[in-house]
Amino acid sequence: MTRSRRPPFTRTLVTLGIVGVVALSAWAGWRVAETVSRRRAEAARRAAEAAAVEAARPSFTARLEPSSTPDQGAYLVLLVESTSGRVITGVEAVVFGGKLPAYQLTRQVAADVTGGTPGRPVGQPAGVEIRQVYYSSLAIGSARKPGDYAITLRVTDSRGIEKTESLPFTVKQKKFEVQRLTVTGQNAALASDDKAWAYDRDQVNAAKASSVAKPLWDGDFIRPLDGDISTEFGQIRFVNGVETGRHSGLDIEAPMGAVVHATNAGVVVFTGPLKISGNTVIIDHGLGYFSSYNHLSKITVKTGDGVKKGQDIGRVGSTGFSTSAHLHWTMTVSLTAVSPWLFVGRQPPPPIPDLLIIK
Ligand SMILES: [Zn+2]
Repeated sequence: MTRSRRPPFTRTLVTLGIVGVVALSAWAGWRVAETVSRRRAEAARRAAEAAAVEAARPSFTARLEPSSTPDQGAYLVLLVESTSGRVITGVEAVVFGGKLPAYQLTRQVAADVTGGTPGRPVGQPAGVEIRQVYYSSLAIGSARKPGDYAITLRVTDSRGIEKTESLPFTVKQKKFEVQRLTVTGQNAALASDDKAWAYDRDQVNAAKASSVAKPLWDGDFIRPLDGDISTEFGQIRFVNGVETGRHSGLDIEAPMGAVVHATNAGVVVFTGPLKISGNTVIIDHGLGYFSSYNHLSKITVKTGDGVKKGQDIGRVGSTGFSTSAHLHWTMTVSLTAVSPWLFVGRQPPPPIPDLLIIK
């Protein structure tokens, strides 16, 4: 048996010393562990809070341009944009008892590592972020009753969360003149030929059934030709005492054979004779905007052609329901006529450089 050479007293001191060191380090370890676990709990609480804030953050913003008080015969643009890091999977906009077509575009914004306001970053930009933009255009018909309306917007995101929002707008009254026309012979027969009106409407509506899902126009729209305006947009027209509705476009007086220019770039979606509108060209400018040129004596483009702004598309004539050489020029948003004056020297909002198309 081996015995320690140390006396019992020294052994006790050493033992106490070891016990003290062990206890001290255990206490210190406990303190460290406690601090770590408290910090972890705090971090977890903060993360849970941040997650709750993040979960509650809206997936989109919605706005109306250029204002929410359009005139009769004007149009509104609805822009629904995803917020930072969110993906919109569905947009449904309902107004005037129908769904608005929504075209999906994208927009580039400067991304920011320091967590600035989406779209308005603070600090140094760290590359770019792509936002989804759903673009819808809403025509206010010239005969739409003035008053308060709303677009009901339903947006679904990639988390399956659906949110409904109401976007109110007010249609303001615009004064339209009354025009009384007296016509005879072929024109009188056409004016009351319901089948002829229905034929034209069907052909035109089919041509405008869909629009290219990106802006095809090139800067501001232009007048298709110079000349006095003989009938303004929206005039309430009586032909031989019978109301035939609102004048859908501008009648521009011009000599027979004058060159008609495309109001802007686009794709020709219809060329041909119509019964009331005569020889007609319809151009799709994208995102639901169409221009149409009626009563032509000659058509110089064909369906499917891409046209540039100002391109020669035909000649002034007096075909169809027409009493003299003139151009009837219509601008429509989908199928509804809006004032062409809202396009001359302008283009639909927002500025196109803001919209980057990747599709
Ligand atoms: Zn006309």
